[in-house]
This record gives sequence, structure tokens and C-alpha cells, in this order.
Amino acid sequence: MQNSVDAEDSVEITVFLGAPGSGKGTQAKKLSQHPHFIHLSTGDILRKAIRENTALGREARGFMDKGELVPDSTMIALIQETLSNIGQDKHVILDGFPRTVAQADALNANPATQVGQAVLFDIPDEELVERLTGRRVCKQCGHPFHVKHIPPQKEGVCDFCGGEVIQRVDDDVSVIKRRLEIFHTQNQGLIDYYRNKNNLKKVDVRHSAEKVEKLLSEFLK
Ligand code: AMP
Repeated sequence: MQNSVDAEDSVEITVFLGAPGSGKGTQAKKLSQHPHFIHLSTGDILRKAIRENTALGREARGFMDKGELVPDSTMIALIQETLSNIGQDKHVILDGFPRTVAQADALNANPATQVGQAVLFDIPDEELVERLTGRRVCKQCGHPFHVKHIPPQKEGVCDFCGGEVIQRVDDDVSVIKRRLEIFHTQNQGLIDYYRNKNNLKKVDVRHSAEKVEKLLSEFLK
């Protein structure tokens, strides 16, 4: 990674690791209601690029629709640029990045983008499939819902911005299977990476969202 982010501009970075559907986004969104925290979801950035039909969106779409990872070089350049635009004294929650050890190495290679801690959202696969097949998201603001557990008050309409609530193309059951396969292939490497650096924390996310929020707030004080 090029050093285009100066060390004196460095931000505090916490990485959320965990399978799709483990609740990383939900918790990061809650944290970002506090002005000190910034939630950076690479999935949300890519989906926005697809909606706006930018060059990035056109490149990413084919990978995303199939549940495959977008190439490291594209993702590293994207996160580097995004982080360089964040002001000082912010605490960034990275949700969905790094996905590979090469991406983790890229953050680590730059003094301004050192990861303070990685939090692993721990959950068994059986629960993930149920969560993901029932997941719905607002097309406009990305707010997550669940058909059974947290439905929007009015069907198909976001409680927060009035946008359309939809099912993501990649939350289709066959694509979910592929995303979980990729997750398991990549995740152990990331766990080992941050465990070796002594900055891995684990949260059992089978608890209610409120309890998970409380557990997280102890790490992120
Ligand atoms: P997410 O919303 O985090 O589940 O991401 C949705 C999709 O975006 C993934 O299945 C990948 O295709 C792509 N994506 C998001 N973040 C990354 C990343 N760090 N590296 C590669 N692909 C990514």
C-alpha cells in the first residue's frame, strides 16, 4: 500500500471479522450513531458504486453477484483512498475489510492505517443461513432488517429513510453457500494474523443484538 495517508493523520481502526450475517454491519451502524465512530463497509461502498454505475461498480458487480471476492488490488486501492479522506480523531470500524491476509498486510504496511484491534463475531454456520435468507436491506441507506426478527414497520419500506427494502442478490441461498465457503477459506488466516499480533478479541454473537452491543462497548470504550 502506498503511504498516501500521513502518519500524523492516522485514525484509530477496529476491524470487525465475521461471516456474512454475523451482525457486523448492524453493530457497526449502531456505533456510527456516535459522532466519534465511522462505519466503513466495503460491501456498502461497492453496492453504491454499482447503483451509480461507476467503473468500480462495473468491475465489482460480476464478482459480487456470484458471491466471489473482488480482487485484492481493487479493494486495497479503494480502502486506501477512503481512509485518506477521514479526518483525525475518528475511530473507524472496518466492516468487510480485510477479507484476505493480503488486505490485512496492506493495512499493516502503512503506519497511518494500523489496526488497533480485530473483533471476531463468532457464530455457528446453521444460524447464519437462517439469518441471511431472511435478511432484507434498505436499497437506499443500507439499513438491515430481517423478515422474522426485525421486519420494517411497513412491509417493503425502510423505517429510517423511507427507501425500498429489498433482498440482496447475493443473499440468494446458492450464493450464500459460496460466500460462506469463501469466508471459511479466508477467515482462519485472518484470525491467525491478528491473534499473532495479540489484538484479536472474540464475541459470541448468538446473544441478542442488545447484549452483543454491550459486550462490544467494553472493547471499544
Ligand atoms: P458484504 O456486504 O461485506 O457481505 O460484501 C458483499 C460482497 O462485496 C462480497 O461478497 C464481495 O463480493 C464484495 N466485497 C466486500 N468487501 C470485500 C473485500 N474486502 N474484498 C473483496 N471483496 C469484497
